[in-house]
This record gives sequence, C-alpha cells and structure tokens, in this order.
Amino acid sequence: MIPSTFDYKRPGTLAEAIQLIKDDPGAKLLAGGHSLIPAMKLRLNASPTLVDISRLSELNFIRDKGKFIGIGAGATHGAIATHKTITSKVPLLAHAAELIGDVQVRNVGTIGGSIAHADPAADWPAVLIAADATVEVNGAFGERNIPATDFFKGFFYTALGEGEIITEVKVPEPDAATLRCAYEKFAQPASRFALAACAVQMSLVDGKCTNVRVAFNGIGSFSYRATAVEAALEGQAPSEDAINLAASRACDNADMVLSDNFASEDYRRHLASVVCRRALNKALA
Ligand SMILES: Cc1cc2nc3c(=O)[nH]c(=O)nc-3n(C[C@H](O)[C@H](O)[C@H](O)COP(=O)(O)OP(=O)(O)OC[C@H]3O[C@@H](n4cnc5c(N)ncnc54)[C@H](O)[C@@H]3O)c2cc1C
Repeated sequence: MIPSTFDYKRPGTLAEAIQLIKDDPGAKLLAGGHSLIPAMKLRLNASPTLVDISRLSELNFIRDKGKFIGIGAGATHGAIATHKTITSKVPLLAHAAELIGDVQVRNVGTIGGSIAHADPAADWPAVLIAADATVEVNGAFGERNIPATDFFKGFFYTALGEGEIITEVKVPEPDAATLRCAYEKFAQPASRFALAACAVQMSLVDGKCTNVRVAFNGIGSFSYRATAVEAALEGQAPSEDAINLAASRACDNADMVLSDNFASEDYRRHLASVVCRRALNKALA
C-alpha cells in the first residue's frame, strides 16, 4: 500500500496546469484523489508526476449559462447534489449526486475526476449521457467539446487524450414544464458503487413520452446509452405494458454484461431491467 515515488506540482492557474500536462503527457492530474490515490497505493498506477488541480478555483464552479448549466470539473459531488441551480433546473444530476458513496466521498470526489476515471460502476457516466451533456476538454489538442455519449469508450477508457484536462461539463437545460427524470441505482452495499443503475430523462407531452434518453451504469464494460429502451417508449403513452417492454430491452445496447463476485451475468441482466422499470415508473409517476 505504498506508492512508487513521484514528483508533485501544484499549478496556481488552469493555464499553468494545461501547460504542465502538455509538456509532460505522462503526468497525472490529482483532483479529489479518491480513485487515483488508492490506485497508486496498489501500484495499478505509477505516474512519475502528479499535477494537483484540487485547489484551482477556475475549475470549481456551477453556473447557469442560459441554455446550459456549466459545471466545473472540480465541482464536488456534494456541491452538485445541493446547488440550487442543479436541484431546480437539472434535478436528475442532483438525485444521482446524493447517491454517490458517503458524505466523505461526496465532499472530496469531483465530477471531472469521476468521468476521467470512467469506472463502469460510477454514477456520473449514465447520468450525463441521459442528460445529453457535453464534456469540455483542453490541452494538447486545444479546446474540444465531446458529447457524453461519445466520451465513454471502454473499461476505464474515455475519449480524453494524453495531455488533456477536463475543464467543464455542460448540461442542457430541459423544459421544466414537461421534464420527467429519475435515477435508480442498485448499489453494492459497502462502496455504494452501482451493480446496476439507470438514468432516465424525457419530456411528457400530451400524455406521450418524447425525447426519451435512457442510459445504464454497472452493466457493461462501460456506461452506455440504451437506444433500444428509448425506441420502445418514444411516442408511447406510459402504460405498464410499454414500460415493461422497454425495460426488457435494458441490456440490448451493452457491449457485454459484467460478471463478478458481487453479481453474475444473469443476475445483472435481471437487475438492469429492474432498475430500468423503477426509473421509468418513478420518472413518469
Ligand atoms: C469509498 C468510496 C466509495 C465510492 N463510491 C462511489 C459511488 O457510489 N459512485 C461513484 O460514482 N463513485 C464512487 N466513488 C468514487 C469517487 O466518486 C471518486 O471521487 C471519483 O471516482 C474520482 O474523483 P476524484 O476527484 O477523487 O478524482 P482523482 O482520484 O483525483 O482522479 C481520478 C482520475 O481522473 C483524473 N482526473 C482528475 N481530474 C481530472 C480532470 N479535470 N481532467 C482530466 N483528468 C482528471 C486523474 O488523473 C485520475 O486518473 C467512491 C470512492 C470511494 C473511495
């Protein structure tokens, strides 16, 4: 449980941080450290240099920017769970944030660190996919905006390149009058990571489901958008039959279904349809 030696750098500005990782693409950014430090102690990660961005105020914000809500990469899960702009305008994010880990994890872990780490059992990926969010990154390739749907690419693997930093998550503001959303997680009891979780966001217009977005965590080797579930509900009245049919397609878009000590493949398939049905029922209640 002792990490290998490393250099520690603490830039005073975002520009300095970007320069440091451009100059040294092998350097690792340190945000909350809740995923990186354990990985270093287990020697799953042995970066020669850590660039500490945890105190950069330029990354620590939540702002209503008109058409979207901007969340700095350094915003903690706890800040997102309780921020008035989030709870009132994008409640899906607030619901999910308050289910992450425990109070210590929520007060230190950051949205940027979580999505860069891309644990398939983490909460943010499916939520950001369902909310149609965009991830802004900067660094070696200049500023890029990557839709959340394209950001999560594999097992602990994202579209983020070497020498790049996540700066902001941009979440479109949905129409409050028609918005229906929910996040349902079946959590591993010790860590609270998702064995299966489903994020749902849609509009209910004239009694029909429209702009249906559904995504899952904890099922495949990475979080995915469930277009089969969406297609089953789009344009439908939310009857019990329609919801059950949609939920039966929960795993159709998964690259694979994980099997581990906590849940076999069959059990996870079952959990996926259960959390999907619960999320749809909750959103449409
Ligand atoms: C006991 C425990 C329970 C947990 N339970 C949950 C849970 O229920 N749900 C859940 O989703 N998570 C859970 N987590 C994970 C927690 O949310 C972490 O905080 C999060 O995954 C990583 O965020 P961090 O800020 O700590 O990042 P770090 O650990 O500092 O960094 C993680 C990775 O992201 C990179 N990184 C950090 N910031 C950036 C950035 N701005 N741009 C590019 N790369 C960056 C780092 O270089 C590193 O590779 C748990 C963690 C613990 C310890």
